[in-house]
Amino acid sequence: MKVLSIASEVYPLVKTGGLADVAGALPLALTAHDIEVKTLVPGYPAVMKVIARPTKRMTFADLFGVEATILEAHHQGLDMLVLDAPALFDRPGGPYLDQTGMDYADNWKRFAALSRAGAEIASGRMSGWRPDLVHAHDWQTALTPLYMRYSQLPEVPSILTIHNIAFQGQFPSDVFPHLGIPEHAYLESVEYYGKVSYLKGGLQNAHVITTVSPSYAEEILTADFGMGLEGVIASRVDDLYGIANGIDTQVWNPASDELLPARYTAATLKKRSPNRHTLTSRFGIEDDDGPVFSVISRLTWQKGMDLLAQVIDEIVSAGGKLAILGAGDPALEGALRAAAARHKGRVGMVVGYDEKLSHLMQAGADAILVPSRFEPCGLTQLYALRYGCVPIVARTGGLNDTIIDANEAALAAGAATGIQFAPVSADGFRQGLRRAFRLYRDAKLWTQIQKQGMKSDVSWGKSAERYADLYQSLISKGH
Ligand code: ADP
Repeated sequence: MKVLSIASEVYPLVKTGGLADVAGALPLALTAHDIEVKTLVPGYPAVMKVIARPTKRMTFADLFGVEATILEAHHQGLDMLVLDAPALFDRPGGPYLDQTGMDYADNWKRFAALSRAGAEIASGRMSGWRPDLVHAHDWQTALTPLYMRYSQLPEVPSILTIHNIAFQGQFPSDVFPHLGIPEHAYLESVEYYGKVSYLKGGLQNAHVITTVSPSYAEEILTADFGMGLEGVIASRVDDLYGIANGIDTQVWNPASDELLPARYTAATLKKRSPNRHTLTSRFGIEDDDGPVFSVISRLTWQKGMDLLAQVIDEIVSAGGKLAILGAGDPALEGALRAAAARHKGRVGMVVGYDEKLSHLMQAGADAILVPSRFEPCGLTQLYALRYGCVPIVARTGGLNDTIIDANEAALAAGAATGIQFAPVSADGFRQGLRRAFRLYRDAKLWTQIQKQGMKSDVSWGKSAERYADLYQSLISKGH
């Protein structure tokens, strides 16, 4: 089976969050099911710099007014198709934001172009390769099924995966005439309170919708989590599937991770201590008996970083230490910086994005805090499980599906892998932390939780199989 995956970021080429991890790891996991995936991504500078010996596969003389080429290249096991359109993607900022942190004014065009190019390839316009199915990710590629339908391109079955319904790709309605979609599609598919919503358009037109955990699939049907699209999701409920993400267990393996000062397994947990030493000295925090908590996160309201700021004093007064790695909302960053200044030697913070440091934190901290208000799947808690770093998580979305709470029954059965707290509020979080401190004092119990976590299956194995089955059933239905 041949699949075209389209994504606006892909690890290890370009990453701002979990979407990149999924877009980079799922194709590798699908090879075990005889599925050949080519992944279409924009030719950002970071991508163009690393692709080696690309082959020209297709040209567009006029893709939204610019010249563009599809290049094919192989990179670390991935078969990449790169949309090389310098006028759209050759810029010094990030994938979505310019150097000052503002959305590019022409994001509507950049990602319509990506979706359009994807639809053309999916429809067989690239000679020598035609996919049996197209798998689009998030709003940036959500117009792909729309282009196939409304431009009368030969259609192949399409899947749209929602990685986070909070990001919808909404633009003023005056972009619509430039999208190259017939007028009737406006009200039929993309109109959302007088604006154009790319995600809504994709949700209306993809043959199947998936999201990244079973709990989140339920949650987005409700007004609390659907971010205004719950009605659209409800109308597609028969075609909605929740499939939890896995992680790349080669990249994230404490037994062989080259980024760590010390490697270890569940049987040699004591060997984590050099990692803890390096971590505490890197963050300028004391390396005494109290637990070291870590946070690796975008600093946003979604991630509950304001809740974190509210509980820091309590963490410190209970004898805990905290290492924070993140970037995002300046106000939240300020609040966390202030807490670090207030608690010198107990709370340390690194502002920025640092993949290598994130490995050290998973391998050195005793626990990771994930107080998200909503969390489609969440990956940091999965890395934490694998690294024996106990996840303390809000009971929501994928966090609910992947962590087994250390309640009495689960502890007695030896099944617990972390702590879930609810409600998702500062008080709920404090309660969860109090339980964590209590468990941590019982070294035997804590080790049992660590080991059980390390036994959890966080690989793509089962989930890749579910995607493979879904692909197969869509193709057999002949959409
Ligand atoms: P989201 O995609 O919503 O940000 P996920 O938990 O799904 O959240 O994925 C986040 C990914 O980004 C994980 O791989 C995590 O380790 C990584 N990450 C987040 N913030 C940072 C950071 N400041 N430095 C390094 N890695 C980070």
